Amino acid sequence: MRDYTPRRYDDHALELDIDFVLHGEGPAVRWATDARPGTPLLIAGPRSSVLVPSRSDGYLLMADEAGLPAVARWLELLPAAVPVTAILEVTDWRSELELRTQASLSLTWVHRNGREPGDAPLLLDALKRSTRPPGDIFAWVACESSQSRAIRHFLEEDYRLDADSLKTAGYWKRGVANFHD
Ligand SMILES: Cc1cc2nc3c(=O)[nH]c(=O)nc-3n(C[C@H](O)[C@H](O)[C@H](O)COP(=O)(O)OP(=O)(O)OC[C@H]3O[C@@H](n4cnc5c(N)ncnc54)[C@H](O)[C@@H]3O)c2cc1C
Repeated sequence: MRDYTPRRYDDHALELDIDFVLHGEGPAVRWATDARPGTPLLIAGPRSSVLVPSRSDGYLLMADEAGLPAVARWLELLPAAVPVTAILEVTDWRSELELRTQASLSLTWVHRNGREPGDAPLLLDALKRSTRPPGDIFAWVACESSQSRAIRHFLEEDYRLDADSLKTAGYWKRGVANFHD
C-alpha cells in the first residue's frame, strides 16, 4: 500500500486522476509503468489532509515531483490574487508541468540536471537564494524526507514560522521502501 494524491476526482464520471512519479523500483511505480486500461487497483481513502488555511499575506509551497500533484491542487484552490511563492524540484526543464492558478504566483523550477532525486539540498539552496515573502505566510513542503526536515529547520529558524504556519512532510525517503513520515 502506498500513498498518492487525488489529483482530480469527478464523482459524476467516477474518474480519479493520479500522477505517478516513475522513479525506478517499487510496487507502486511498477504498477503505474505496466498499467493498461482495465488493470485493477485497490484504492482506500481519502485520508484526512491539511485544508488550505486562510492567510492574507500569502503562501510558500515547496515540493519535488512526489509533492507536485498536491502543489498543483493547492494552486487551483487558492483564491485570486493571493501571493504564492512556489519552489519546485524536477529532473530538468522537460519535466516542468503547466500549473493553473488564479493566485499571484512567483514560480521557481529547480532542476536536478543528472543528480539523483533526494540526494542534494537543491530546494533548500533555492529557498536560501530567494527573498522571504513578507508578513504572515503559511509554508507547505512535501519532498524527500531528509530534505523536508532540513527545510523545516530553516523555516523555523530563519523564517521564524511556528507550527501553525508550517506543514512539512517527507513523502518518500531515499533508500527506504514504503516509508511513512
Ligand atoms: C500524502 C502523500 C501523498 C503522495 N502523493 C504522491 C503522488 O501524488 N504521486 C507520487 O508519485 N508520489 C506520491 N507520494 C509519494 C509515494 O507514496 C512514494 O514515492 C512511494 O514510496 C512510492 O512507492 P513505490 O512502491 O513506487 O516505491 P517504494 O517501494 O516505497 O520505494 C522503493 C525505492 O524507491 C525510492 N523512491 C520512492 N519514491 C521515490 C521518488 N518519488 N523519487 C525517487 N525515489 C523514490 C525509495 O527511496 C526506495 O529506495 C505521496 C506520499 C504521501 C505521504
